[in-house]
Amino acid sequence: MRIRVGHLYPEYLNIYADRGNIAVLARRAALRGHELDVDSVSVADSLSADGYDLLYIGGGQDREQALVAPDLAAKAQAIDAAVRDGAALLAVCGGYQLLGRGYRGQDGSFMAGTGLFPHETAAGNRRMIGDVLLSCELVTGEPRTLAGFENHAGRTRLDPDAVPLGRVIAGFGNDGESGHEGCVVGHAVGTYLHGPLLPRNPWLADLLLSWALSHAKGTTPEPLATLPDHLEQVAHDVAALRARDRGGRS
Ligand code: GLN
Repeated sequence: MRIRVGHLYPEYLNIYADRGNIAVLARRAALRGHELDVDSVSVADSLSADGYDLLYIGGGQDREQALVAPDLAAKAQAIDAAVRDGAALLAVCGGYQLLGRGYRGQDGSFMAGTGLFPHETAAGNRRMIGDVLLSCELVTGEPRTLAGFENHAGRTRLDPDAVPLGRVIAGFGNDGESGHEGCVVGHAVGTYLHGPLLPRNPWLADLLLSWALSHAKGTTPEPLATLPDHLEQVAHDVAALRARDRGGRS
């Protein structure tokens, strides 16, 4: 099966090698006999709502975010329609912020977002940096942990009815206070976790792939065949240990 991936602004939003997440998706798809067809969708490129099974947007500094924000806002309807239609989406840090209602950056200027995620973000004075560990349950009855790295000035406040990606076991998360990290809308996942995120959290890579595949086939999502993830598990555990050493919340 061909899985069509739209990678938004790869040349602007790729802090901490966020594009490594695409490499993981491509490899894990190939190991199941599927092919990832990745298009770069950048400033002034058109985005069709039914063009992709998975959309991806990485993180970036305020300066890069300001360069893409107006163009991304113009793509809001297509992104919304794609997610409503069941396409998968992964947004990391700067991209996650800009898919909310907006981000007030360090210099006080406001960048309007697309409004996909029910949240707003404003930069604070202290950056929130370090390893993070979350507990998540994206599929009911299947609790998982997610290990990653965060580095952001933005504090993201979720609306009261928003669904967070996970609960912070160690680290700051969305705002350093709520105990929530990230946000989920349909098959769209937003998070502050860089790293890249997917090499050490293969369960999330596979969940996104199963959503993308179901969108491509027009069927309901099915779990993918398991892979021997020993190295990935070790990478996860090392990051989780570093996060726990950092101290956390319960
Ligand atoms: N510029 C944003 C912030 O500092 C996002 C940073 C990032 O993507 N790492 O909050």
